[in-house]
Amino acid sequence: MQASVAQTNDVITAAAHGTRRPVRHYIAGRWETTSGALSEPVYNPATGEVIAATPLGAADEVDRAAAAAAAALPGWAATPVVQRVQVLFRFKALLEEHFDELGALVTLENGKGVKDARGEVRRGIEVVEFACGMPSLLMGETVRDIARGIDNLSYRFPLGVVAAIVPFNFPAMIPLWTLPIAIGAGNTYILKPSERTPLSAQRLVELLLEAGLPDGVVNVVHGAKDAANAILAHPDIRAVSFVGSKPTAEYIYRTAAASGKRVQALAGAKNSLIVLPDAALEQTVENVMSSAFGNAGERCLAGSVVVAVGNASEHLVEALRARAQALRVGPGNDPESELTPLIRERHRRHVQEYVDLGEQEGARVILDGRTPPRPEGFYLGPTLLDHATGAMRITREEIFGPVLSIVRVGTLDEAIAFTNGSAFGNACSIFTDSGAAVRHFREHIQAGMLGVNIGVAGPMAFFPFNGIKGSFFGDLHVTGKDGVRFFTEHKVEIQRWFTPPVPASSTLPEAGV
Ligand code: NAD
Repeated sequence: MQASVAQTNDVITAAAHGTRRPVRHYIAGRWETTSGALSEPVYNPATGEVIAATPLGAADEVDRAAAAAAAALPGWAATPVVQRVQVLFRFKALLEEHFDELGALVTLENGKGVKDARGEVRRGIEVVEFACGMPSLLMGETVRDIARGIDNLSYRFPLGVVAAIVPFNFPAMIPLWTLPIAIGAGNTYILKPSERTPLSAQRLVELLLEAGLPDGVVNVVHGAKDAANAILAHPDIRAVSFVGSKPTAEYIYRTAAASGKRVQALAGAKNSLIVLPDAALEQTVENVMSSAFGNAGERCLAGSVVVAVGNASEHLVEALRARAQALRVGPGNDPESELTPLIRERHRRHVQEYVDLGEQEGARVILDGRTPPRPEGFYLGPTLLDHATGAMRITREEIFGPVLSIVRVGTLDEAIAFTNGSAFGNACSIFTDSGAAVRHFREHIQAGMLGVNIGVAGPMAFFPFNGIKGSFFGDLHVTGKDGVRFFTEHKVEIQRWFTPPVPASSTLPEAGV
């Protein structure tokens, strides 16, 4: 505990004194110094200061990482799964030991509040815990005696060298969506973190090595588009897991599939929060606030449109405006902050332009956060756009900022029709006391993650993270049993033995091993 408090302070102190943190590729068991290479600045979004520089890797780094992963594959895949998961158990213990430090690092490079940052580290640890159960998760199936003396069996094998390309908004959790499952299942792995938030992923890998992972099993290539394209082009990489914006996800899906890779591409979102007149007002408002404005709206599960049904709008809209206006804007490392900065200046301008657009489209700006509320960093205030409609781009396109639109409709069916008009299908929540309304909603809504009186409908690690429609390209989702299937392939065997039984010649492991 003492160590993690000290390390948390180190992270914050380093940031406060402008100490640049090194960002290095990790290939074939070596951290590589890349002085002189092309790089991209990493900012502390709360201050605007440059805290690091991400080296922009490309084909050379990806080739070497893929060669290292291919070289490590036979040994790692042949390591019994019960031994592979011992590394994950030790990794989980180290993540707990460094929990506060990791949370502080996420806050430092992403800007989100410390509570949200720790929440994402916790969600990531839960995937490690899930992957510790890999011996059970890899179990095949059998049907004995499908004909006299003939059995049918299936086994799961690792795919081989796999890669993950991840976004900036969950720099610790999203690498952990795939890394523990992929290596627990016996694959070797290449991670390309977001060039905007490389530090958390790098620290995770340092801890993984401390847990005893052999060289080459995990490799990190930093960079942006060129590194991602080199992964897509590499013939030895069997599968690509991608999380990011919709245009990039579509491109990654098409390109990876065209070269015969297995691919899952998790994309953007535009999630509705449907509020019925019988919803509990106070709790609904708090849930909407944290869904829309938590992580500054930079969440694929953010509720970005409130759909008020019937006379729900009567008290709801004013209550939302009053609560949003009172949100405390401030840096993520202040536990009192409720609205933290955006990732970059360019993204802040993009969000401001969307509010301008909403006004031009005829929505009423009932709370205007366009003027930056603090001089430093990349902050915006909360914005509410009332009387928005499904014909407006602000209700159809992902804004990814602290902007909440309000659409007013007459009935639950109209709310469902509005939501289903979206190209996206990540999450949708309903706020009501009516079981019948919830059942109707579940039957007809087109979204893959549903919340009932819950504003952020994030599933646990043992379920799939389950976007549909334009929020997901692929077949098998990340995490849960889907995650295990994505990183394994089946062999199905049918067997018959002609000779009579003989004593077993192989020995089982000793008890306690
Ligand atoms: P992004 O698409 O800009 O970047 C994601 C990754 O792709 C990064 O590693 C980046 O370097 C790489 N990349 C960017 N452009 C590329 C290109 N042209 N070719 C190849 N690679 C490229 O996304 P972002 O801004 O980092 O993340 C935010 C987006 O991610 C939002 O749209 C959000 O909804 C989405 N997201 C979705 C989920 C989900 O589960 N569906 C989860 C988190 C984030």
